[in-house]
Amino acid sequence: MAVRQREEFLLNRKEIIEALKAEDFSQVYKRAKEICERTKGNVVYMRAIIEFSNVCNRGCAYCGLNKYNKKIRRYNMTEQEIIERANEAILAGYKTIVLQSGENVRIDLPKMKRIIQFITGKGVAVTLSCGELPREYYEQLRAFGADRYLLKHETSDESIYNNIHSDGSLKERVACLKTLKEIGFETGSGFMIGLPGQSIETIADDLLLLKEIGCDMAGIGPFIPHPDTPLRDHEKGSTELTKRAVAIARILLPEANLPVTTSLGVLDKKERLAAFDCGANVIMKKVTPDEYKDAYQIYPAEIPEIRVEEDRKNIVTMLEGIGKKGV
Ligand code: SAH
Repeated sequence: MAVRQREEFLLNRKEIIEALKAEDFSQVYKRAKEICERTKGNVVYMRAIIEFSNVCNRGCAYCGLNKYNKKIRRYNMTEQEIIERANEAILAGYKTIVLQSGENVRIDLPKMKRIIQFITGKGVAVTLSCGELPREYYEQLRAFGADRYLLKHETSDESIYNNIHSDGSLKERVACLKTLKEIGFETGSGFMIGLPGQSIETIADDLLLLKEIGCDMAGIGPFIPHPDTPLRDHEKGSTELTKRAVAIARILLPEANLPVTTSLGVLDKKERLAAFDCGANVIMKKVTPDEYKDAYQIYPAEIPEIRVEEDRKNIVTMLEGIGKKGV
């Protein structure tokens, strides 16, 4: 084991910073790709994401769902609607359903229980992404059968964190991540590239925090300004820096599942495919019903009509084109 770890050339903080700043990053990309091929083969995991509610009681300055945004129509999908959509995604072949929402401590646990049990009853995994909740809630959700949870730390810099969040703290967020791990969730964190005040050093610390938490999954995506948020005039994040961070995450966490974040694809379709050459091995596809898809805009994006089965086939074909097998 020790020998294998040395082979991985685990990067330290100084080396990460140097690599992120380097003119030529090709050796790191190459290494990340090799590690990914060794740990994941040519397989890309496809996840269907249902954004079941945009009700949120947080004021995150980057996010279009933040509680101060009065321009969006808030919705809560009914149990029936969620189950129907999940079933459609399962019939189309998805093996994981991601249930994402704004943060709302009034989350209806009995309803979640029935939905989770419906999905897992079909032999399909449930990943939750519903923000910070009290430990007892996480415990119950785990007991219902959900076994993965995504909660990005967003930034590892406390002062940046405080500047862009009107609620909560970095400490609380990281504590939630540790709780999720303790409870036995496969735990996912991640962060954004291009937040105000972020430096290369911050990104290095973000990457090291993923490692410290012991993330099983990590989503790294470029920030995209949303016109109805306080960060509307802030510049979007760099796609190159995003790919570099993904590559380093692969080296630090050889076995982790690293999605190509949707925001990367929104900024640049080509880059989304390129990320699979940088160590990413997961792709998420929105299957939220058309009726709600436009009301769930964490960042502005044009979302074409959603056809669950056809969309999945198109992704499989797209992945085949780069020698990957979507499962
Ligand atoms: N309420 C849940 C889900 C948040 S949305 C939670 O708190 O975990 C999922 C992710 O989208 C966020 O974690 C954030 O990293 C990303 N995101 C939000 N606004 C964004 C923006 N303007 N640009 C890019 N990514 C954004």
